[in-house]
Amino acid sequence: MTTIRAIRSKRVVTPEGVRAATIHTRNGVITAITGYGDLPSEKYVYDAGESVVMPGIVDTHVHINEPGRTEWEGFETATRAAAAGGVTTLIDMPLNSIPATTTAAALELKRTAAHNKCWVNVGFWGGVVPGNSGELRALHRGGVFGFKCFLVPSGVPEFMNVTEADLRAALPKLAELDSPLLVHAELPGRIAEETAKLEQANPRKYKTWLQSRPPVAEAKAVEMMVRLSREFRARVHIVHLSSELSVPIIRRAKKEGLPISTETCPHYLFFASGSIPDGQTQFKCAPPVRDSQNRKRLWTALGRKTIDFVVTDHSPSPRKLKCLDTGDFFKAWGGISSLQLSLPVMWTKLSERNYSLKHLARWMCSGPARLIGLENRKGAIAAGYDADIVIWNPEKRFIVRPTMLHQRHKISPYQNKPLRGEVEATFLRGEMIYDRGRFLNKPQGALLRRGEADGFH
Ligand SMILES: [Zn+2]
Repeated sequence: MTTIRAIRSKRVVTPEGVRAATIHTRNGVITAITGYGDLPSEKYVYDAGESVVMPGIVDTHVHINEPGRTEWEGFETATRAAAAGGVTTLIDMPLNSIPATTTAAALELKRTAAHNKCWVNVGFWGGVVPGNSGELRALHRGGVFGFKCFLVPSGVPEFMNVTEADLRAALPKLAELDSPLLVHAELPGRIAEETAKLEQANPRKYKTWLQSRPPVAEAKAVEMMVRLSREFRARVHIVHLSSELSVPIIRRAKKEGLPISTETCPHYLFFASGSIPDGQTQFKCAPPVRDSQNRKRLWTALGRKTIDFVVTDHSPSPRKLKCLDTGDFFKAWGGISSLQLSLPVMWTKLSERNYSLKHLARWMCSGPARLIGLENRKGAIAAGYDADIVIWNPEKRFIVRPTMLHQRHKISPYQNKPLRGEVEATFLRGEMIYDRGRFLNKPQGALLRRGEADGFH
C-alpha cells in the first residue's frame, strides 16, 4: 500500500492559482494545503519536484461497452487507460453495453460487471429511449448522475433515438428530479438530405463524410433543445459540440438564464478536416471534425465560457468494425478513443494559445465535476476534497505509439503525433495507483452513485 500523507511540488494547481505548496491528506481526503517547506514528520511524502500537481481529471463522457460488447473495450482496460492518463473519475455512457442502461435492472447488471475491475472511480449515466419514461425515476433512485439521449440513430439497435414527442414525455420527469439530460444534438432530416446528394461520392473521402453531417443539423438540434429546456425548465447538456454555428445559440440560452451547458472533445480542438487523409477511418466520429476556422472558434467559445468543459467521448471498437482495410467512412464505427491522451492533447494545443494550467483544470477537472454534482468533492485541490490527484511533467515531449496505449484496441488518430505533457503518477483517495507505466496494487476505484459522497466497492 502506498498511502501518502503529503505531496509537495513547486507547481500545485489550486483554485486560487498555481503555487509551491504541500498537500496534506488523511483517509483519502485533502486536509490542508500549506507552504512548500511545511512537511509532516512522517516519512510518507511524495516530492513531485517541478512537476505539476493537479486534481485528477473528471471525464463524464466515456463508452466502456461492458457487459455485452466487452470485446470493444471493458472496465479493466478502459480504467487502466484512465489511470495512465491521469483520469480519476469517469462516467460511463448508457449505450453500447448490452443491455443498454435504460432500466434500473440494467444499471445493476452494469454495476455487477464493473465490480472489482475499476482502477479509477466510475459512475453511470442512464438512457432516455422511446418508451422508457416509466423507468427514469427508478434509474435516478439507483444512482445515475443524469440521462443521455440521441436525436439521430445511435449506431446500435438497442438504444433508439428519441423524437420531440418522446422528450415531451421524459423532460417533465427529469425537471422534477432536477436531473440533467445529455443530448447528442444532430437532427436526422438534414443529414438524410445531404447524404442523398452524395450517392455518387466516394465514401473513402473524408470530405464526403464531412458533407453528410452539416453544421446546420447540429444547430437545429441545439435550437430545439433550448426551446424544450425553456418550456420544461429542464437541465440540458449538449454533448460533443462540434460546430461554431451552434455556439451563439448556446450563448444566448445561457444569457437568458436557461439551465444549459455544453462540452466539446479534444479531437475537435486538435484536428482540422483539411489535414485528415482519405480512408483514415480512425478519424471518424459523429458529429465530424470540421475545418480549422471552426476549430479556432471552438477554442474562443471555451475561453469565453460558452463551452463549459472538455471530455473525451472515448468510444473504441474492434479493428474490423473501424473498417481500416476499406477506409469507408460510412461503414466504419464512429468513435475516437483518447481517455489516456486527453491531458497531453489538450496541453499541447492550449499552451500554444496562451491558455494556462488554470484553464486546463477548469476544463478537465472542476467543469465536468459540476455537471455531476461532485463539485464539492472532486476536481479541485482544496481542503475537504478527495485526494484524487495527477502528477505530470508539462515540458516532456513524446510521440504517440500504439504500444503505449492501455485501451483494448490500440487504434488512435493521435498515432505518431508529437505531444507535450507526460503523466508521471496518479493518486486515488491518497493512494498511488499508477507510477510511470506501472499499475500498483489492484483495482480499487469506487462505483459512484449520485448524491453519495464516497461511493462503495
Ligand atoms: Zn459518446
